[in-house]
Amino acid sequence: MPETLSEPIAIERTPVSRLTETLRERSEFGATFSDHMLLAEYDGSAWTVPKIVPYGPLPMPPSISALHYGQSIFEGFKAFRQIDGSVALFRPRANFERLNRSAARFAMPAVPEGLFLDGVRALVGLDREWVPHREGGSLYIRPIYFAIDEALGVKSSRRYRFAILTSPVGPYFTDPVRVVAEEHYVRAFPGGTGDAKPAGNYGGSLLATGRAQKQGFHTVLWLDAREHRFVEECGMMNVFFVLGGVALTPPLTGTILPGVTRDSLLTLLPELGTRAEERAVAIDELFEAHARGELSEAFGAGTAATIAPIGTIRHRDREMQLLPSAGSVAERARARLNAIRTGEQPDTHGWLTRV
Ligand SMILES: *Cc1c(COP(=O)(O)O)cnc(C)c1O
Repeated sequence: MPETLSEPIAIERTPVSRLTETLRERSEFGATFSDHMLLAEYDGSAWTVPKIVPYGPLPMPPSISALHYGQSIFEGFKAFRQIDGSVALFRPRANFERLNRSAARFAMPAVPEGLFLDGVRALVGLDREWVPHREGGSLYIRPIYFAIDEALGVKSSRRYRFAILTSPVGPYFTDPVRVVAEEHYVRAFPGGTGDAKPAGNYGGSLLATGRAQKQGFHTVLWLDAREHRFVEECGMMNVFFVLGGVALTPPLTGTILPGVTRDSLLTLLPELGTRAEERAVAIDELFEAHARGELSEAFGAGTAATIAPIGTIRHRDREMQLLPSAGSVAERARARLNAIRTGEQPDTHGWLTRV
């Protein structure tokens, strides 16, 4: 697979930018799209040279197999305005590698590295003014990859489309999250697709999330499919618990999405003086530890929210409160991660890619 593209990316600029200060700095999460998008196609044997065109509709026949059988995967990461005014991507290679793991799981061909990494740099470079300047703002980057054969036979498609869209997003302040452990529906099961990012994993979670919201919670705490005993994720985020001063997160045994935020925290937490451990965490263990006063924090981790402290956990008829405290592990980790992403603190792990 070529490291870089053989030909330059063709760019068709929009005649008039839609950018206004309001759009860049104040948009609701994922509801505004910047001027351009990147498109490429796999024709069954080779990739077309990608092109960047004005953001807009993609005409598609209703027979494309992604719509029928779900060969449709995505990624999510961010570009940050640096304190020197430049723009950098946070760990884009990790998302490139994860996209191709999802592709392999769905019997889709790998996306070439040059297409993904040069493509995203060219796209974000062109729309760099869309990267918010405001503290806590960022440009959310959404690659999508889906099957476009016009065929109803159930088989892996020959042809695919790859696209990247971007969306300016504001700071994601949340009240402490209220979660309820889900006892009926499951997000993932052994041998399933829970460790990949197919569109359908989200679709399949909406009913449970909606029911939790009707009961006054923000989202669900997903439990394991076999016994409904072990905590797996919190909504669409990975989850951490600080128990006896140690940050615990479930191990990547096939039903946990390998989050880049999760992975970054496993590196940063020890640097901040908190031991981090990947191990199974039972819901009963959490309630017992809380009763003993040993569970100090719980938080979700993902690109959209970064770190979202959990304030309430309900399981059946029991409920615990976790009070956010100044200087918490979550707060220190979020501050460190933000400082690295914006260039305020040195990028000692090589996580930033300049655009
Ligand atoms: C994408 C995703 C996450 C978070 O991954 P990041 O790379 O940290 O954004 C967590 N859980 C699920 C189910 C996801 O789809």
